[in-house]
Order: sequence, then C-alpha cells, then structure tokens
Amino acid sequence: MDGKHKVKHPATDCDVLIVGSGPVGMALALELVLHQVSFRIVSLFPCRAMLRALIIQPRTLELFSRYGAAEELIPRGRILQGMAICLDGKPAGAIALNQFKASDTRFPLPLNISQAETERFLLESLSSHGVSIERSITATSVVQDDNGITTMLQTHDGGLETVRSKYVIGCDGARSVVRQAGEGMIWKGSSYPQSFLLCDVHIRNSLRRQDQGLLQVSREGMFGIFPIREDLFRIVVSGPAATFDQQGDTSSVPTLEHFQSLFDRFTPPGSGTLEDPVWISRFRLHLKGVNKYRDRRIFVAGDAAHISSPVGGKGMNTGIQDAINLGWKLALVLQGQVQDPEAFLNTYHIERHPIGQELLQSTDRMFTFMTSTNRFFIPIRNFAVRYILPWLTPTDWWNRAFYKFLSMFGVTYREKSPIVGTAAGFNGRIRGGDRLPDGKLWLTSKNTGITSTTVQALCVGGSHHLLLFSGEHCEETTNELEYVRDEVLGAVSFRLAVHFIYRKVKEEPAIALNDYYLWPSELVEETLLKRFGFSEESLPGYILVRPDGYVAHIGPLSALDEFLSFLRKHFVAPVEEAESVAEYYSPFEDDSSDEIGSETRHDSSLGAESTSKCASSTQLNSTIAADSSFEHVSTAEHAFTPLSFSSPSA
Ligand SMILES: Cc1cc2nc3c(=O)[nH]c(=O)nc-3n(C[C@H](O)[C@H](O)[C@H](O)COP(=O)(O)OP(=O)(O)OC[C@H]3O[C@@H](n4cnc5c(N)ncnc54)[C@H](O)[C@@H]3O)c2cc1C
Repeated sequence: MDGKHKVKHPATDCDVLIVGSGPVGMALALELVLHQVSFRIVSLFPCRAMLRALIIQPRTLELFSRYGAAEELIPRGRILQGMAICLDGKPAGAIALNQFKASDTRFPLPLNISQAETERFLLESLSSHGVSIERSITATSVVQDDNGITTMLQTHDGGLETVRSKYVIGCDGARSVVRQAGEGMIWKGSSYPQSFLLCDVHIRNSLRRQDQGLLQVSREGMFGIFPIREDLFRIVVSGPAATFDQQGDTSSVPTLEHFQSLFDRFTPPGSGTLEDPVWISRFRLHLKGVNKYRDRRIFVAGDAAHISSPVGGKGMNTGIQDAINLGWKLALVLQGQVQDPEAFLNTYHIERHPIGQELLQSTDRMFTFMTSTNRFFIPIRNFAVRYILPWLTPTDWWNRAFYKFLSMFGVTYREKSPIVGTAAGFNGRIRGGDRLPDGKLWLTSKNTGITSTTVQALCVGGSHHLLLFSGEHCEETTNELEYVRDEVLGAVSFRLAVHFIYRKVKEEPAIALNDYYLWPSELVEETLLKRFGFSEESLPGYILVRPDGYVAHIGPLSALDEFLSFLRKHFVAPVEEAESVAEYYSPFEDDSSDEIGSETRHDSSLGAESTSKCASSTQLNSTIAADSSFEHVSTAEHAFTPLSFSSPSA
C-alpha cells in the first residue's frame, strides 16, 4: 500500500455491496429497496452527461413502472414510431412499429431517450427513498471466503475502507474489477474492426419526420439517424464513410462540418442543418460476454456481464433486466425464504446467461448484416433489403416476431429455469417463466369509487402475487378460491398479495372486499382470459407472479396439489401456520389497521398504488354491481409484513 493511502476506516458491514452506479447498479439498488435489503452502492464516476444508450424497450418501461411513474419518462424522450430503410439512397422499405398495436401492455412502443435522462429517473427514484450513491469511490479488490466477502474501497483523496458484506454485485461495466475477482469468470469475445462516428446534434430547418428513424445501407457503409427528443437526433456512421474523415484521418474525433457533409450525402435535400452538437465521438465496438454470472458471493450484471453493439438498442435494457432478476432472489435468500439458497441463487445465471448470449448473437448478426463491406456479402444484403424486406414487412408473422424480439416481451425463462412451472396438461398460451401480460381491470372501492387498473399495476411492490381466477361461476368458486389461498399461504412465508378475480356477477354480490371488473367490452374480456388460458370452459385458475413480473407457476385450480408441491420444493413454509396467520396476515376488512396501512404504503411508494387502493377498499359499489352488463372481477388482497427487515442504507 503506498503512503498516500493514509485514512483507514474499520470494516463496515452490509448485506449487499453494489459496485457501480450506472443504470444497472441503480436498478439493482431500487430492487433492494423494494425488498428491504440492507445494501451500499458505491461508484467511481458521478452521473454521466453523455447520452450513450438511446432506447428504452417496452419491457423495461413496464418494469420501470414498478418504481413509480414510468409515464413521466415519456415526455423526456420521443416514442419511436418506425424506421425508414434506404438502399444506395433509394427507399427500400419501412418498419412501422406503430402497426403492431400490442394490446397487452401500457407501453407498446420503444422510447428514445438519452441515457442521462434514464439515469436521472433512477437516481430520482432512489433519492425519493432516501438512498444516496457513494460517489468517487473505487473498488480496488474483492476477496471472498466461506463467511463473507471483503471489498477494499478507495476514496478520491486516498482514503481506504474495508467493507464486509454477504454478497458483492459487479455493476461496474466492461472492465469490471468485481468480475476479475470471480474465480472461473472468463471474459471472452472480440472487437469489431470498424470504427464508428457518432453525433448527437440538433437538426434545424428540417422537413424530416421527428418520430421516425432512418437507416441508409450502401457500399459506403451504414448511416443512421435516430430521434432523441424535439429536434435532437443521433447520427451514427460506419464503414468507409466513417473510416476517413475529410483529412483522411482515421483516429481523431470528427467535426460537426464532417457530419454535415455526411448528412448532406445520405439524406435528401431539405433534411436540415446540423447545429449545437451535444456529443461527438469516434468509437470502437466490442462483443464480449462472461461465461458465468455468479461465483459464490460474487455476481455480475449489465456491461460487466455482456457488451455488444448498440444495434437493436438492448445492452442497457438487458443489464437493467439482469438487475431486476437478481434483486428479489438475493432478498429471498437473505430473508431465509428459500429451501436451497445456493440452487436458488444459481438460477440467476441459469435464467440470465442465455439472455445475455442471445443479446450477443442477435446484435452481432444485425450489426454484421448492416455494416459489412465484404464484396461477396454486399450483393446478398442488397438483394435481401431490396426484395425480401419489402415482402416481409407487411406480413403479420414477421411483424409479430420482430416486435416480440424488439420489445423484449419475448424474454422468457420457460423450460430453462427450475424455479418456474406450468401445471401438467394446462394448455394456456402463458407458461411458467413467461412475462405476465397486462390487461385492464376495474377496481371498485368505498373510498375511491370506480377506477380502472391493470393486471400489471396490481402486481407491484416487493411481494409475490397470487392471482386467483374464479371462472364462470364466481359464487360457486368463492369457497374454492379461499381454500386455495389458505393452502398457498400455509406453504410459503414470503410476502404474498392475493387477488381474487371474478369473472361474472349475476346479481349484486356480497363477495369481495376489493373488486376488479374486466373492462366491459367483450373484446378485452375475452382477450384477457384467453391470454391467460382461462377462457376455455371458463376454467378457474391461478397464476403465481414473481416480484420481477414473470410467471412463477400457472394452472387450473384443480392442479393445486402440483402447485403446492412446487412451492414446498422451493420455498420455506411459515414456522407455525397458525401463528403466522395471526402474526402476519391482516385482512383488509379492517381499514384502520395501521400495520397493513404502513406496509402497503411502503409498497405503494414504489409503484403499488393500486395495492394501497386495495388495502382501503371494502364494499362493492352497488351501482356498478346492479349493471349486469359488467363482467365482474373481484380481488381480495392479503399482504404480509416481511419476516425479516433491515433498512436500506441511506
Ligand atoms: C454509443 C452507445 C450507444 C448505446 N445505445 C444503447 C441503446 O440504445 N440501448 C441500450 O440498451 N444500450 C445501449 N448502449 C449500451 C449501454 O450504454 C450500456 O449497456 C449501459 O451503459 C451499461 O450500464 P452498466 O450500468 O452495466 O455499466 P456502465 O454504464 O458502464 O456503468 C458502470 C459503473 O461502474 C462504475 N465503476 C466502474 N469501475 C468501478 C470500480 N472499480 N469501483 C467503483 N465503481 C466502478 C462506473 O463509475 C459506472 O458508474 C449503448 C452504448 C454505447 C457506447
């Protein structure tokens, strides 16, 4: 140790140390807040001013909405409606994202927004929970043993601190120090030979559409324009056009004039004038990934686990989704809720590593396709762009497949993960491991009257959610639903919110403390039940939703035994059932219950607004119940105080 490292603090403890406060580190911190885990988050650099990642994909927006108003992000960016594609300067096709009209989400389109704004959103969300990031701190070494992990932190003035924690999560980017400390974590891949030019710039006096991107593919390389907000755009150039600037220089940062000349060359007259650049850069891209995401107490997420080309706009999105996958698993293990903590934590690698690999492969294919200057490949690409693309883009199946890929709604852990499942013989489209699709519901409440909500808006906060669908005959199945609820509550001790969802009310029902109605349109009602696979013969069924918004288990109520075996295999039951119900279960009949009120308020502050509405809801609104044209969905919700609680570090 050199002489300037004079200030030495004693070892401090926390459950989790997050190294790195890029978007991935901050998303993980938010997850840990949500799950009431004690942690620290340290980072070398302050928030960045550069824009970097441009696209937040619809799935990430859905997941962000669990932290609060993701809608607030939308005015800070621009919804991307589509991309025009040109070949050698001539229009060759267009991808109209807005034609997909996904009905099972509140966020059907990607949001183009600067990474600085995304980071601001995450930072504001963290600040609202009293969490601050410890800045200008470098993790210099990470050493694990059987009982914990020791990280050496160095402050900018040379001070040293030793932190002892149970886990360290490397969200420290491509050069991750944490990853380097992981035994057998091999970082492999290559760098692309091309150099790229990037300019985030205002385009003035332009006739071009501001909600559509443009991709020009030609022998001279690739030229792309992507809207950011108002008249701010990103221009990216690769290939020969990017290799030589006006002075024949291949290494210096290009000038605005150089971009203007490229812009004039690749866009039609009247496309505008480039002014006030925000960021100009020349950069190289890499394609690298780590072979394992976990080594005992060390985990890696985000760019520390995978870096790829920005084509498709998924690197940051994938990293954020890594963090969301890991957060609740760490929490359940730390709270002693799982049967086999080691196996449970391994599912982070099992679920996320294939997604990271798929990111690397798919972005590589797209990138190579668009930027190749190989003279044998160019005619093939030109043929594909000129003849195959215009034929593909209007077809439904291609659009659906492309949208599923782009939106990241297609991310699934089905059949790969041991901690998700589907009841034997259940034929619904949604399977264990899939994303929980969204759909509209009506909530009635004594206090708030009738409000609309959605399935995903119910499933927020740090708990699992059990959705119990009554099927056609709600009065007859009420007892059955209550029985299933009680059995499940007796099998697990993690926080669980239970929602009874009734389909039909024939007369004013006496059920339901909190009631949800399907949207009174046949289309949505059918769609919603069909979506979950409960429309066939109006099957009563269940869905257990994980805190990260994926289906843990799904099936008909008749598969209860199979469902309970699944729960008992993976999760710890309450120590004593009778006690646990008395201690942790607070029925919502009692509006004045302070304990539930505060528990639910905590969740609602992270986006569980509808949960808190549930908590205060008591009686079915009779005006609505009298209207027999309404399909009826009813929800009774039960929340638990957590078994162990440790405050997040402030
Ligand atoms: C030009 C460009 C465009 C892109 N466009 C997109 C896009 O449209 N969509 C998309 O999804 N992705 C995109 N990406 C990728 C995206 O920017 C990254 O995937 C994302 O920033 C990764 O976030 P991260 O938090 O994992 O890492 P980073 O953002 O790299 O953050 C790492 C953090 O770790 C800290 N740190 C590093 N070492 C240490 C240490 N030893 N001790 C303490 N702290 C440390 C750093 O200070 C920093 O806070 C793009 C990337 C580039 C370059």
